[in-house]
Amino acid sequence: MGFHLKATRCRLCGAIYHPPRAICHRCGPGSKGHLEMVELPDQGRIIAYTVLRYPPEGYPSPMVLAVAEIGGVRLIGRVIDAEAVEEGCRVEVVKGEGETPFLLRRIDVK
Ligand SMILES: [Zn+2]
Repeated sequence: MGFHLKATRCRLCGAIYHPPRAICHRCGPGSKGHLEMVELPDQGRIIAYTVLRYPPEGYPSPMVLAVAEIGGVRLIGRVIDAEAVEEGCRVEVVKGEGETPFLLRRIDVK
């Protein structure tokens, strides 16, 4: 079951921002009031990732941090099931816990 992150989209140029912003980076101060809340898709693709063998205390080892493209936005997130990660693999966004707003989980495992 996927999870949809909230983002903002500029009505002037179409740029999408996560986390949400009040002003569009491309259009400048004149875009204030022209950004609308949208939901990102619950699936995307991993662009790149790194494996942390010695993650911060309280995190699983190995821990995988990935850059994922979700609905045209690039996000950095932790991947559940570290062994299954490959560049280009499809992931879904799932709700995180505590201070982790979301996690990524591979969905195209053969
Ligand atoms: Zn804009």
